[in-house]
Amino acid sequence: MLSERMKQKRYFLPEDEIPRQWYNIQADMPNKPMPMLDPATREPVTLEQLSEIFSVECCRQELNLTDRWIDIPEEVREKYKFYRSTPLVRAYGLEDALGTPAHIYFKNESVSPVGSHKLNSALAQAFYCKQEGVTNVTTETGAGQWGTALSYAANLFGMNAAVYQVKVSYEQKPYRRSMMQVFGAQVTPSPSMSTRAGKDILTAMPNHQGSLGTAISEAIELARTTPEKCKYTLGSTMSHVSLHQTVIGLEAEKQMEMAGEYPDIVIACFGGGSNFSGLAFPFMRHNFFDGKKTRFIAAEPSSCPKMTKGVFEYDFGDEAGYTPLIPMFTLGHKFQPANIHAGGLRYHGAGGVVSQLMKDNIMEAVDIRQTESFKAGVLFAKAEGIVPAPESCHAIAATIREAEICRQTGESKVILFNLTGHGLMDMSAYDQYLSGNLIDIDY
Ligand SMILES: *Cc1c(COP(=O)(O)O)cnc(C)c1O
Repeated sequence: MLSERMKQKRYFLPEDEIPRQWYNIQADMPNKPMPMLDPATREPVTLEQLSEIFSVECCRQELNLTDRWIDIPEEVREKYKFYRSTPLVRAYGLEDALGTPAHIYFKNESVSPVGSHKLNSALAQAFYCKQEGVTNVTTETGAGQWGTALSYAANLFGMNAAVYQVKVSYEQKPYRRSMMQVFGAQVTPSPSMSTRAGKDILTAMPNHQGSLGTAISEAIELARTTPEKCKYTLGSTMSHVSLHQTVIGLEAEKQMEMAGEYPDIVIACFGGGSNFSGLAFPFMRHNFFDGKKTRFIAAEPSSCPKMTKGVFEYDFGDEAGYTPLIPMFTLGHKFQPANIHAGGLRYHGAGGVVSQLMKDNIMEAVDIRQTESFKAGVLFAKAEGIVPAPESCHAIAATIREAEICRQTGESKVILFNLTGHGLMDMSAYDQYLSGNLIDIDY
């Protein structure tokens, strides 16, 4: 049955309208993020210190509080053309299933070659490393999304990738490991005996199953002990990662215009904040400057709720304490998140920029239980034909909550959410949900 109101379903931009610049919200924030600190001296970290581990250009972007627009290198834009623009989709199927007068749109980042939004930053980080003469890149990965994106990007730019994968997912998600290996990466389960940090952890706790914190420590150590040749890359939390992700929101802005609408509510799932930032920041500038009143909602898991239950303070980004001190909403860098299926959301802290925006009440956060997220994911899959990543299910659940409020009030609010990835590598999680074996773990 065709809905009476059914008009255009999907919106695309032609290649020449893929953004040429990223949006740097740090230039426009009412209160700038507090600086990252050197843990030894408690002084703000310098470009020199940061670029011991990250590519110099990424560090410049990280510390850039003044330039609103940053050019996307042509080489990166060429690679974006492999999958961008990603479609903006009107979720008529979901609207009908909910019987809501809300207009629901989603930005479909699952169409990237690696199946998630992570590639938007992996391509940029790999390109800058290559440009600076680096031959090897390293990183950590939990569920495998970021590791896969970096492996593919390193391969495109002719570099070697060494990925430390959290041991529990290395064992539970063998297909993501295979995918990284297909792209030519060397994958090591973390904690491993190949680094000082890994050895220390394994000596104290021989059965340690690994966490993003342990894997980050190992990857940073590898970059530090192989200076010049090897750089570390990060898939979330840092402001340069959020910057690269703004292609999502900049495209969505033009596509919403094509649809003749503007979002009242923007929703994204929240791990370290990169996809939230990517979708939300371009719209936030219209709240800052053009009197728009859009609400921005981060959806996090109730088992790892740094934004709703964490504290705002200086903390480390990793378990061993190798990173600078970052001003963040955090559950503490020693916090061991429960083993939920949304691996990309199992991180103890939020990035400095999003933390400041949260503190300033420019955005909101909600926490979602695992079973509510999968229920939402299954409803979405039936209605729209796409099986969403367990992470994305949190955004869908938060969207459904808002759409149900619209059903009660009769308001036709425009809701835009980010579909960060597909769940085709996570079917064992859906199996568990469907057989009733999934449990809720609260913080
Ligand atoms: C990594 C990941 C996330 C969470 O990371 P953010 O940096 O908060 O965006 C969400 N969805 C998918 C599919 C991911 O791979």
